[in-house]
Amino acid sequence: MDNAKLNSILYSSIQSVKQVGTATAKKLNKLGIETIGDLITYYPRDYEDRNKEKKVFELQDGDECAIILRILNGVTFSRPRRNLRIYKTVAGDESGQITLTWFNQDYIKGKISKGNEYVFFGKVKKIGPHIEMVNPIYEEVNSERKKTTGIQPIYSLTAGITQAYLRMIQRNALDIVIGKLTDILPNELRKKYSLSEYNFALENIHFPKNFEQKEKARKRLVFEELLILQLGLLQLKNSQIVVSGIKMQYKPAIDKFISQLPYQLTNAQQKVFKEIVNDMTSENQMNRLIQGDVGSGKTIVALMAILLTILNGYQAVFMVPTGILAEQHYQTIKVALESYDVVIELLTGSVTKKEKERIKQDIKNNECQLVIGTHALLEENVEFAKLGLVVTDEQHRFGVKQRAVLPSKSNPHIIVMTATPIPRTLSLILYGDLDISIIDELPPNRKPIKTYSVNDSMRNRVYQFIRKIVNEGRQAYIICPLVEESEEVEAEAAMSLAKRISENDLKGLSIGLVHGKMKAIEKDQVMAGFAAGNIQVLVSTTVVEVGVNVPNASLMVVENAERFGLAQLHQLRGRVGRGEYQSYCILFCQSKSEIARKRMEIMTKYSDGFMISEKDMELRGPGDIFGTRQHGLPEFKIANLYEDIEILKEVQKTASDIVKHQMLEGREDYNILQEHLLSLFEDKMNEVALN
Ligand code: ADP
Ligand code: MG
Repeated sequence: MDNAKLNSILYSSIQSVKQVGTATAKKLNKLGIETIGDLITYYPRDYEDRNKEKKVFELQDGDECAIILRILNGVTFSRPRRNLRIYKTVAGDESGQITLTWFNQDYIKGKISKGNEYVFFGKVKKIGPHIEMVNPIYEEVNSERKKTTGIQPIYSLTAGITQAYLRMIQRNALDIVIGKLTDILPNELRKKYSLSEYNFALENIHFPKNFEQKEKARKRLVFEELLILQLGLLQLKNSQIVVSGIKMQYKPAIDKFISQLPYQLTNAQQKVFKEIVNDMTSENQMNRLIQGDVGSGKTIVALMAILLTILNGYQAVFMVPTGILAEQHYQTIKVALESYDVVIELLTGSVTKKEKERIKQDIKNNECQLVIGTHALLEENVEFAKLGLVVTDEQHRFGVKQRAVLPSKSNPHIIVMTATPIPRTLSLILYGDLDISIIDELPPNRKPIKTYSVNDSMRNRVYQFIRKIVNEGRQAYIICPLVEESEEVEAEAAMSLAKRISENDLKGLSIGLVHGKMKAIEKDQVMAGFAAGNIQVLVSTTVVEVGVNVPNASLMVVENAERFGLAQLHQLRGRVGRGEYQSYCILFCQSKSEIARKRMEIMTKYSDGFMISEKDMELRGPGDIFGTRQHGLPEFKIANLYEDIEILKEVQKTASDIVKHQMLEGREDYNILQEHLLSLFEDKMNEVALN
């Protein structure tokens, strides 16, 4: 069969499968199954092993297994209620006897006869010495066994679709296509990685002869799914690389700037800055992600890139997620660039309308070299005279999909920074179109933050501890519970907590409050008060999560810590331990669940963000950590990024080979793969080309 014809079969409605009518088709749509292609790629979530055979003496309560039994009694019938008809018999092997019971299965009548042997398959109920199998399926011992043997797929279901029905139509659909499908993976690749052929894989993922074959089938399908994604991402990336950029010159003034810093750059900071300089002095536009744990010193690296831009006569932009952070960067950078002739403007929600207009005008007239501001403000029609660099801080707060775009005639260099510790293998999937630099080293002499998980019985002692550290001249944060649904509820909770502690538990201390419902200018005032040390205890929602740097704060208290992701707790904890003082993090955990306990344990045990995210991933799977929605992690039909990390590594190597040697374009045996990719990613490619 030629490809086109086969394609049309895969795209034809499931109603062309035997036993699928209009009503069931509707139900199947709820599972995302509309075409034959959808059905055959609706993979089992698990399997039932009917090959397992036991003897009576081995049976345990809850077993599901096959068993060969001789019928010892005639089948009895009773009808205790109008709708309940019960068939019962006793059967046994040389090791013992069990009762077989069927409810409302009238076909049993006359089929099972005393003295004969059958194979039964069903679930075992064992209460004391009494063993029973309810509604077992059966076959004659000497027949060609179909139902009581083999591995049966288990699919996720929806109302009105039973397991048996889905198995049946899956079989019917496979019978239409198996043997006729062309493999999109070239022979060469299949050989190299011992990947099974596609028709074999499809048959054996649904109806495997044994678990070995199922594993072979699965590996191949996972490989294919990940390879397609990876190749798509690489192609997207390549179609962007060709964008030419602003070629800048390295300036010796940068060396002077570095030598005058109050500290030495870590090796990791130097390495990453070198990568940035290489990009910026090349012909091409830089698209670089800087990933570094909380406190690894990303800001200074970005600032050096900014300085390089300004020294080359271009403008730079520093975009951050919150006004609080913008204000803070503005203060630090103003001091750091004091001796240079640079005009820096701050563009946040607390800037007046008139002031905003003036700033915009200055940017347009090239009278301002650096703008620090929040995304929202910078995205509304700010026109740059000579934009050379855009830095986005704390990218993880926005998700990949929402990468900020600044309209610009030139192709400014791009740096995005994130503290979200992403296992290396996943980086390309999350940030496929960016080059990645990692700051994998903290500045020396950081004292590890002592972390404790406590429950409410410790509340008074925690308040005493807050008083103690405040008496010593330090400051504390108290973070209020996260309320996903509503910023309003969250704000109210923060207000009532602040009220309670200032009237009772922490009476006499100076307590500040910030939350998402406050006006930008109010938030900035409170933060300035905290930074200046006038506020001793800051009650806050997660608005302080990102980037805030108050080195005198040495205690972080988090209420209802179990509601936060570990990456977020790690971010919050990163607000302390930024100065010379021993710092502490206290996590109030109200949940008694095992998983909550384990997660708190990870926080108390580990201080490295990578380690934390890996441990969290083991507990919860990657989707939960990054949040599929927020971070644009694709949804997979069969691959599982945690379990399949080894396959992903193979795939990444393969994909980069394929791209490097231009096999998709140049090799006939890669044609089908190329066509497939184009059909999937064409829209995306066009989007990139248009930008
Ligand atoms: P993050 O990577 O979380 O954004 P910051 O850039 O805010 O971290 O840096 C955290 C703190 O570390 C700042 O106070 C900064 O001045 C300091 N810092 C940065 N680099 C170094 C270094 N090489 N040695 C010592 N301190 C450093
Ligand atoms: Mg930062």
